[in-house]
Formats: sequence, C-alpha cells, structure tokens
Amino acid sequence: MVSLSSISAGLQPTNKLYLNDSYLKTAETTLLRYVPETRRSGYFVTTDTIMHPKGGAQPSDTGSIESVNFKAVVKKVLEHSGVVIHYGDIVEGVPREGEKVSMTIAWEWRYRVMRLHTAGHIVDYAVVQILGEDLLSSRAFHGPPESFVEYIGRAGEIDSASLAQISNDVVKASKRVYPVLVSRGELLKTVRGAPNLARLPELETYRVIVIDGVNAIPCGGTHVANTAEVGGILIRGVDKVENGFKVVYDVAD
Ligand SMILES: [Zn+2]
Repeated sequence: MVSLSSISAGLQPTNKLYLNDSYLKTAETTLLRYVPETRRSGYFVTTDTIMHPKGGAQPSDTGSIESVNFKAVVKKVLEHSGVVIHYGDIVEGVPREGEKVSMTIAWEWRYRVMRLHTAGHIVDYAVVQILGEDLLSSRAFHGPPESFVEYIGRAGEIDSASLAQISNDVVKASKRVYPVLVSRGELLKTVRGAPNLARLPELETYRVIVIDGVNAIPCGGTHVANTAEVGGILIRGVDKVENGFKVVYDVAD
C-alpha cells in the first residue's frame, strides 16, 4: 500500500478545473507523477483535473487518463494536502512523468451527482424553511446509492410532503446556481440559510454556492447551473437518528 502523503510529497496543489466549470467532460493536462502500485495499476497526479475526489459529502468521480504512450481507467479519486490523486488500472502502455495527457470523466455518473448535490442544498433550504435558521446538520452524502442530510434535533416537526413541496417549488422556479469566492470577512454577509457556519474551518477564501434567491452555502462540490436540471426531488423518508433526523432524498429521472 502506497501512502497518499508519499504520492503527493513536494507537489503543488492540483488545479481543480471543476470548481469553475463542473460541465467539463475532457481536459488536456500534464502527468506530474506516476506511482505504480502493481504492474497493472497505480496513482496519477496531473497539473489539472476535472475529477472530484471522494470527500466533502460527495463521492469520487471515475473516468480515464491517456496519452500517446498509455491508457488507464480511473477507478477512484482521492485528495491529500490539496493534491488530487487518481487511482486506476493501466489498460495498455507505460505512463511517463512529464508527458501530456488527456483526461475524460464518466459523465453520466458525474451529472447525476451534480443533480443530487444541488438537490441536497435545496433540501437544506426546505428544512430551514420549516424549522428555522438555527439548524445544525451533522452529516451528508450527495451521491448514489443513497443521498441524505442529517440534522440535529426536532424530527417530529417535519414531514416528507412539506419538504417535497418546498423543494420542488425551487426546482420548478428554474433558479440559477453558481459559485462565488468570498473572503472570511465577507462570508457572513454572503452566506444565507447555511446550517453549519460555526463549524467552518478558518480559510482566507471560501467558495460559496449560490442558488439565486434561495440560499448560499460554503461548498467545494459540483453543481448543475440551474435548479431545473435537478428534474425533481423525491423525499424518500425523514428518519429518526441519534440526536436528530435524517432526510433521505433522490432526484427524479
Ligand atoms: Zn454542498
């Protein structure tokens, strides 16, 4: 087992192209490091990436990386100290550090995750509408097979039908969704309806996902550009968990 810290040692943070454009399906970049695990598998670090690593309540993307010398299937994407590490199988050839590579994302999966992540922010809005802004969410996951957000406290006051109604009104209103970068000083003025402000790490700059007229939540994830793309939000259940409740949701096809 190769450690992520040894793979990323001495490298600059990866340029995450998906932060500015979550719709990128391919990119040309440079292979900075290749660390073989076996003869047929290994870890790839590139200057730029379009693939979101596992973390931040979002699952890993998958896809492929190839050059004139090799072709690899990316099965898992991880992050260590800002360096994005793509793990996968070599299909043919041998990667060479420093060479130009092209990267392709498994788009169908990613687009579903984008719809689910934006839906998660809309569910947050719906829960805040019903219970008020002093809410704390404890855990979340925006991806298949089961997307959910957990909140602390007061499960009895919320029902699936009201959540579904409020959420789908936002979807149907075709609200614009976009990222903004704000300083720590501006953060409190920018953020609206975010349940977890007290727990945010101290950073110089925050990326905030704004849904026009709905909420603005610090987030490093990938989102659709308009709530209409979510399609529809299904509330699968509001379940009691320790300290609170869990809203399980999905997007309609
Ligand atoms: Zn988010």
